[in-house]
Amino acid sequence: MLEKDLGDDLKSVLITKEEIDAKLAELAAAIDEEYAGRDVLLVGVLKGAVMVMADLARALSSHVTMDWMAVSSYGAGTQSSGVVRILKDLDTDIKGKHVLIVEDIIDSGLTLSWLLSNLGSREPASLEVVTLLRKPDAAKVDIEVKWVGFDIPNEFVVGYGLDFSERYRNLPFVGTLAPHIYGGTED
Ligand code: 5GP
Ligand code: MG
Ligand code: MG
Repeated sequence: MLEKDLGDDLKSVLITKEEIDAKLAELAAAIDEEYAGRDVLLVGVLKGAVMVMADLARALSSHVTMDWMAVSSYGAGTQSSGVVRILKDLDTDIKGKHVLIVEDIIDSGLTLSWLLSNLGSREPASLEVVTLLRKPDAAKVDIEVKWVGFDIPNEFVVGYGLDFSERYRNLPFVGTLAPHIYGGTED
C-alpha cells in the first residue's frame, strides 16, 4: 500500500490490516452470538463506516440487511458540535427491527449521541452500536457502546474509511498523518 505514493504522507501505522481483520472476526463472533436466530439491520454511517461495514458484514454468519445514513455535524473546523443534519436518511422503517449502528470512530461522541436518540425515537426492537475505533480521552458525552474494536489515543487518524479532506479512505490500515500534510510542525 505504501507503494501507492502515500508513504510520505504518513507518520505511522497505528493499526495494521491484520490487526483490523482479527478484531473484526472477534467482534463478528460476539455479534453473531448476541443476535442468534434474529435478523439484524446494520446501519452504516457514511462515508467513514463503509470499510468497517463491508468487512464486518462479511465476517458475520447472521442474517443481515444493510442501510445507510449520511449526517453532517455542524461545528467550528474539525470540532463536532452535536448539532446534526441528516443528508441522507434510511431507506427503511426500523420500527420493530434489531438495529446495529456501524461506526468507524467515536471521537467526542456527539454525533453518535444524536443518532442514538434520533433512531431510538423510531421504536426499533433494539438499538446497539459497534465501532472500530474510539478515543476515550476525547469523549464529551457518555455513550454505551456494546462493541468497540480499539481504544486509541486522542490523535487524528486516517485510513480504512477515515479521511483527511476526503483522501486516505482507501488505506487498508489506520495511521497517523505526517505534520506536513495537515499543516502541523515536525516534532
Ligand atoms: P464525534 O461526533 O464523535 O466527535 O465525531 C465523529 C466523526 O468525526 C467521525 O465519524 C469522523 O467522521 C470524524 N472524526 C473524528 N475523529 C477523527 C479522526 O481521528 N480522523 C478522522 N479522519 N475523522 C475523525
Ligand atoms: Mg462515523
Ligand atoms: Mg471526515
